[in-house]
Amino acid sequence: MNVVALIDFDAATGAATGHRLVDADAPHLRVTDLAATRGDGIFETASLVAGRVQALEAHLVRFQQSARMLALPDPDADVWRAAVLAVAEALTAGGVEEGSIKFVLTRGVEGAGIPTGWAFGTVSPDFTADRTQGVRIVLLDRGYRHDVAETSPWLLAGAKTLSYAVNRAAVREAARRGADDVLFVSSDGYLLEGPTSTLVLRLDARLVTPRVDIGILAGTTQGDLFTWAEQEGFATSYELLTPADLDRAEAAWLVSSVRHVAPVRAVDGVPRTVDAELTARMNAALDARTR
Ligand code: PLP
Repeated sequence: MNVVALIDFDAATGAATGHRLVDADAPHLRVTDLAATRGDGIFETASLVAGRVQALEAHLVRFQQSARMLALPDPDADVWRAAVLAVAEALTAGGVEEGSIKFVLTRGVEGAGIPTGWAFGTVSPDFTADRTQGVRIVLLDRGYRHDVAETSPWLLAGAKTLSYAVNRAAVREAARRGADDVLFVSSDGYLLEGPTSTLVLRLDARLVTPRVDIGILAGTTQGDLFTWAEQEGFATSYELLTPADLDRAEAAWLVSSVRHVAPVRAVDGVPRTVDAELTARMNAALDARTR
């Protein structure tokens, strides 16, 4: 089941004014939209579980940050929240227990000067195997130093842009190497993030994730996971991490909005132990979120 809400924009000011649910199977995008011709836009994907859109406020904040980085008009959180919630309600009414809602803002049709926006909801695939047995990852050089966000902000490292062709190519490279997913490493040797996920390690009894000032996204799932973990008595921290830290970690996970927590069961072909019990508790905690 698919649901689409289009965002309406004022033709004079370019301001978002509201949303309307439309036929999900009808065409809605112009071929000259800068999303299609340049990948020039931003997006977020939120998880829908049992009628609740998870971490919606954190997604809206990151959406606004990405917009600032691309000099797109500031997305009105009230308009976008209402659109996402309307899609969620329609999916839930249609019997979807677990789904995802992707919302997108583009620079609009070439020359028009008015953005394009929509929210698209669909049912999620079954991620049981990834969440329980785990994923095999490879480390791939991202080709940028860890300070790229500071030295070269025009590369948009840390913005959630529509230009994910590189991320998709990295996953194909992983498949060629017999793996399921990727962990990017900076050219100067620091662990970054997956193409669609955040790394979390269990190191010396604390949960650790890479610092977010190294050109990576601040993960909404990782944020909620750390809030839960602190309530459970885990220390948490944001650090500069290297492949040696991954080697010595007691457990590693890739966490993200739609797949949730996937334990890492192999790195570059070398098997790793999966902490099945802690992973199950993490996924249950995420499912239990009320917002
Ligand atoms: N890093 C990248 C590059 C991503 O695309 C994503 C999500 O798609 C994440 C991290 C994880 O973020 P979140 O937990 O908010 O989904």
